[in-house]
Amino acid sequence: MSVFEQDNFSDHEHVSFFCDKETGLKAIIAIHSTKLGASGGGTRFFPYENSQDALVDALRLSRAMSYKNALAGLPYGGAKSVIIGDHNTMKNEALLEAFGRCVDRLGGKYVCAEDIGMTPDDMVVINRSTPYVVGLPGKSGDTSPPTGYGLYKAMQAAADFKLGGNLSSVAILGFGNVGRNVAKHLVEKGVELFVADISEENIKLAVDSYGAKEVSMDEIYGLDVDILAPCGLGGVLNDETIPRIKAKVVCGAANNQLLETEKHGEMLGDRNILFVPDYIANAGGVISASGEVGTFNQEQVEEMIENIYNTCTNVFHKSLEKGCTPVAAAEELGKKILA
Ligand code: NAD
Repeated sequence: MSVFEQDNFSDHEHVSFFCDKETGLKAIIAIHSTKLGASGGGTRFFPYENSQDALVDALRLSRAMSYKNALAGLPYGGAKSVIIGDHNTMKNEALLEAFGRCVDRLGGKYVCAEDIGMTPDDMVVINRSTPYVVGLPGKSGDTSPPTGYGLYKAMQAAADFKLGGNLSSVAILGFGNVGRNVAKHLVEKGVELFVADISEENIKLAVDSYGAKEVSMDEIYGLDVDILAPCGLGGVLNDETIPRIKAKVVCGAANNQLLETEKHGEMLGDRNILFVPDYIANAGGVISASGEVGTFNQEQVEEMIENIYNTCTNVFHKSLEKGCTPVAAAEELGKKILA
């Protein structure tokens, strides 16, 4: 398995591989940068097909966390951890405690949090072996309301920049916790909503409680709407979907929406579709969690989430000036802050 040679390796400071034979734990912790402070990033428990896929995910997500924290103005580095396996069948307390010992061995350089396949209760179990955990129940709690609000600010910035301030329709792909929180703000402004999801329960909620129109997973890309908002899985912007997109803007919460950052960012630009870098649009949650660890008070947290609007606008103007994609402009800004 190549590490240093592969495309997604981006001068990561520290990549660790852990194995615990007794519990079956196989995990990777990728620390991209600690230049701004101890690194933070969620723990993803996912049935990767192989360890190379797990490594790629850890490398890409940890790099995005560095830029997310830097551009949000947070004094944290970027990291991510992945546990390889099906969380439905493999997850148990012994395995989570073993994972906690792995986190602990890094001595505080990495602080873990909840992500796909993990719950706040799992964080409590990990916390038995290490203090380097956030997202415990009763602390920062559910981060999806601030993430949803931050995403709404990003959409407003994109609409002001690209649509002359007119935002009348949004198609949400994945109507989970963040999807419904952004929907709340959009509905208040009279924006028409379309939704697609693999969960019938979530579709029903969108239709019954938010007046959304259901569309199929296939149809959603071809809708002539102002904004397409991927809020489910990553990798949904790719060779197959991009040519079909009719929305003028893509702005969603899912991490790593572009299957290949550079190539697919450029494909969207070539089609004159404004792509809002996901790690800026979805930073509301991590900003809110910074309140849990006492880095900022509530007033500062709210101000920083509002500021997502300005960060987006700044990135759009930079990309225009430099003739590059918003993702490239955001990376350049992030790199400057890290330097
Ligand atoms: P969630 O699990 O509550 O919702 C995800 C939704 O996507 C669900 O309704 C699910 O049924 C749907 N979905 C899953 N696979 C799908 C597919 N193949 N096609 C269409 N829909 C699918 O998650 P969430 O908390 O709402 O987060 C949404 C995304 O935003 C995730 O990618 C997450 O990593 C990212 N994110 C979340 C936060 C947060 O604070 N919750 C912060 C930053 C980023």
